[in-house]
Amino acid sequence: MVKVLTTQVLIIGAGPTGLMAANQLSRFGIDFIIADTKSGPTKESRAIAVTARSLEIYQQMGIVQEAISGGKPITFFNLYSNGKLKGEVKIGEIGKGLSEFSYMLTFEQSKNEELLAYQLVRQGKVIYWNYEFIELKEHKEKIRAVLSHDHEFTEVNAAYLIACDGANSAVRQQLNFSFKGGTYSHKFFVADTVMKWNLAYNRLIIAPGDQNFCAFLPLYSDGGYRVIGTLPKKYFNKEDISFQDIKRIVINTLGLDVEFESVHWFSTYKLHHRGVDHFSDGRVFLAGDSSHIHSPAGGQGMNTGLQDAYNLCWKLALVLQGHAKPTLLNTYNEERLPFAKWLLQFTDRGFNIMTSDKWFVKIFRKYIALNFAKPVLKNPWIRPIIFKVISQIWYSYHSRSLSKSVSGQRLRFKAGDRLPFFSEGNIYPNFTKASFHLLHVDFTPLSVELRAKIIMSFPFPINLVEADLNHSWKKLGVTRELFILVRPDNYIGFISDSLDEIKTRKHLEKHFIYRI
Ligand SMILES: Cc1cc2nc3c(=O)[nH]c(=O)nc-3n(C[C@H](O)[C@H](O)[C@H](O)COP(=O)(O)OP(=O)(O)OC[C@H]3O[C@@H](n4cnc5c(N)ncnc54)[C@H](O)[C@@H]3O)c2cc1C
Repeated sequence: MVKVLTTQVLIIGAGPTGLMAANQLSRFGIDFIIADTKSGPTKESRAIAVTARSLEIYQQMGIVQEAISGGKPITFFNLYSNGKLKGEVKIGEIGKGLSEFSYMLTFEQSKNEELLAYQLVRQGKVIYWNYEFIELKEHKEKIRAVLSHDHEFTEVNAAYLIACDGANSAVRQQLNFSFKGGTYSHKFFVADTVMKWNLAYNRLIIAPGDQNFCAFLPLYSDGGYRVIGTLPKKYFNKEDISFQDIKRIVINTLGLDVEFESVHWFSTYKLHHRGVDHFSDGRVFLAGDSSHIHSPAGGQGMNTGLQDAYNLCWKLALVLQGHAKPTLLNTYNEERLPFAKWLLQFTDRGFNIMTSDKWFVKIFRKYIALNFAKPVLKNPWIRPIIFKVISQIWYSYHSRSLSKSVSGQRLRFKAGDRLPFFSEGNIYPNFTKASFHLLHVDFTPLSVELRAKIIMSFPFPINLVEADLNHSWKKLGVTRELFILVRPDNYIGFISDSLDEIKTRKHLEKHFIYRI
């Protein structure tokens, strides 16, 4: 007899994306089943960089200190060529004033998965390890999926399914999503090492050589470094290749004295760049690597998966709670697909410049990119842009259907932007509830009666936050009373100078359900 389980949301895959989805649904009190073929969190370090935007999510979830204490901040980025420093950026400095986490944190994927899984276990949630997704029997009106465990089948009935089952997603393949793109001709290597050099152990180094490309990323342990790069062509077809085979080439590419003491993990692989052209079909949503894969340039893969899940799950929660119409779920595709497309292009271009064998790219790399790197990386206008891009705080949902401003003030932020960050008087700690927030910026707070009236006027539960109209807000162009509707994922949904019920309702009733 086939066992039958019923839940609200079925999540396939308990990698970083699936575990984030489960955590977000849990914050909203939504019932879910999360299943993975593995027996527990991954043991391989895999992705190692966690961006500021991901840390802000962890902060909202109350787990950021655990991530920070188990990780290591990357505070310097260096560009080396033949042993010569060609450019340097103090990542910690260029991010100041832009996020509380003004650096990049190395906190390996295995640790992220452990932390996210532990956070679920702490709340009494179960992760169905050793359960494999086999087949989707229905996905338009409801979800009926078959899982296999220990040679026995379980049917799961759910309202929605989130496919977080990685690059080879069985869900994506069964539903015939297109997954267009290509495979890079190079082969790559990755090695987690312990090494000695004369530099400090807090710097990320990129070393494009004439024949090869290498990058060095600090790991948590003393002297621990992730080394990645292109595999020299002569090793493409060699079986049982080890780091020992390419160690000398790596050292020569960097051009500095390095001693490798040990290697904990070594692997070679081909890289792909592919993406879907839509994130959903019926009641199935794709997130993370199941919908987009690209080179690890910029350390964006895991972080993008975390953000996909973060964007989708509050929307699913509000629909399942009866506060929103199912049309709200279309905004997941509307908001995340353009980012996935941009990311594929961005990582593809960056990666080609670093690794291409074409003669004109080699000339550009050697004589133009490397020589201009120093002044470019020193430019005070360019440095914050670099931080915003690598930390994923630049991306906004401007001009999307959930973003609207009816304010007459000349504001320096827009609907669709991430919540403004102020290094003095950081407001992020006031936005940890799993709900919409209404931020009221003024010289005096609202009266108790008005607060109650405003809260009742929204079609969903709302957390009202008061902020003093201080110099930080004035710098952003706020001169008088302002209402900012902040979404549960801390992006700005609606901006207005007064809570004109007609305008607010006109905007919100597109996707949300007013009872009166
Ligand atoms: C060497 C390397 C370095 C990287 N460096 C970085 C970096 O620095 N920064 C960064 O952001 N990204 C990096 N990435 C990319 C990052 O690892 C991925 O983007 C990330 O793992 C995607 O997470 P995910 O949860 O979407 O998919 P995955 O991590 O692939 O998880 C998918 C899960 O689904 C499960 N699954 C698969 N099929 C089924 C099934 N049929 N039934 C049930 N479960 C199933 C799998 O067991 C797995 O646990 C790197 C990747 C590699 C390989």
